[in-house]
Amino acid sequence: MLLVALLFSCKQEETIEKQPDLTPEAQLAEIQRRIDSLENFISTYPILKPATVEPNFGLFQTLQGVGLDLKQSLKIINTLADTVELGTLKAGQVFWVGFDPIDTSKAVLFRYAENPATFHFLIMDDRGEWIYEIVERPVNIRYAMYEGVLQEGSNLYNTLRDIGIPQNMVGVVAGVLECKVSFRTDARVGDRFKVLLKETRFQDSAWIGGKVLYASYDGSRVKQSEAFLYEEADPKSSFNAHYTEEGEALVHSGLRYPLDRLHMTSGYGYRIHPITGARSFHSGVDYRGAVGTPVYAVADGVVVQSSFGNENGNFIAIKHSDNSQSWYLHLSQRGVSTGQKVRGRQIIGKVGNTGRSSGPHLHFSIKQPNGSWMNPLAKKMIATPKLEGAKLSALKEQMGAIRNILTKTENAEPRSIGDSVQATVRWVEVLD
Ligand SMILES: [Zn+2]
Repeated sequence: MLLVALLFSCKQEETIEKQPDLTPEAQLAEIQRRIDSLENFISTYPILKPATVEPNFGLFQTLQGVGLDLKQSLKIINTLADTVELGTLKAGQVFWVGFDPIDTSKAVLFRYAENPATFHFLIMDDRGEWIYEIVERPVNIRYAMYEGVLQEGSNLYNTLRDIGIPQNMVGVVAGVLECKVSFRTDARVGDRFKVLLKETRFQDSAWIGGKVLYASYDGSRVKQSEAFLYEEADPKSSFNAHYTEEGEALVHSGLRYPLDRLHMTSGYGYRIHPITGARSFHSGVDYRGAVGTPVYAVADGVVVQSSFGNENGNFIAIKHSDNSQSWYLHLSQRGVSTGQKVRGRQIIGKVGNTGRSSGPHLHFSIKQPNGSWMNPLAKKMIATPKLEGAKLSALKEQMGAIRNILTKTENAEPRSIGDSVQATVRWVEVLD
């Protein structure tokens, strides 16, 4: 009854919130009231457990860590999938899961503060279906240009961190620039860098999100290198990345290993099948591994299949920037879902013995863009895509827009950042 009453009152609040004649202050107060009422409801729940994200873990592993079974975990993930970007969870983030006081293995509440301004709630209704609620506080969006000079005893990573750029953005900036500049050998005191971010902040201070629109590096040992963000209408396009002015992608392209220890038990090509005894084509390589051993994505990409098949068992297919795909078969657990973006070296599942398999192992394959399998051992790199034709024209157009934003921010008032670093930031608010 309590649940029904709460849900009913939430629906009521939603209609109140949308009334245009509320003042901004009244709207803020209403949002805060709604957060408080949901938070209060959850915090007084009899069995409440914090689920903390471990390094390299997704929501799937995190939920299993507080005792949710496979079915419940997947139900939560699928309910959130349309609205929450689950590929970008940070280690240390905490979810709250409330359990039914009678059937204590059954989750009935779920709460996730994505950032200081965005709260997601799931509340189970009487029919056992999750009802999703999101509450968002207003945020500021701005273009911010950070400019700095490398100083004695520092490097680009430290400098970017010291001037307040979040760790994940530092990684992106350093990653794209490193394709052109070897910081280890070529960085010198006095080298200059520029980074243009589109930032979302809460109350002007708390970082909520952002993207790197532009980065440049100008050093005594290296000529100026520039990187521009290119995005297609489809946010999951594998072409969305940073490029040089000429359309050359700035992505780290080396392949990582799918397992920590590689012990191959069967190679690629024709063989006598261990179960059927028939001569058959083996489309990948088999690596020995105990059930539960973590399986890693070999490169950045998008999960195009995460499902179960009679032959493949639990399997995952990831599409990479050169349109090749890596396949991982016979898993005991899958930790990513179709459509999700993954990073190289991210844990995507666990070794298993599902499907047509003669013992625990990982079957690993590479499918070429033309659809045929190739020997995975022959694949050393994910080819770096180069934009051509219409895509190159679109890049030039987006570069023009980015250069306009650079000019706008350059005209804004510079603010120095701390005393220890020689850097400034200038920003303009985004009005849209
Ligand atoms: Zn195999």
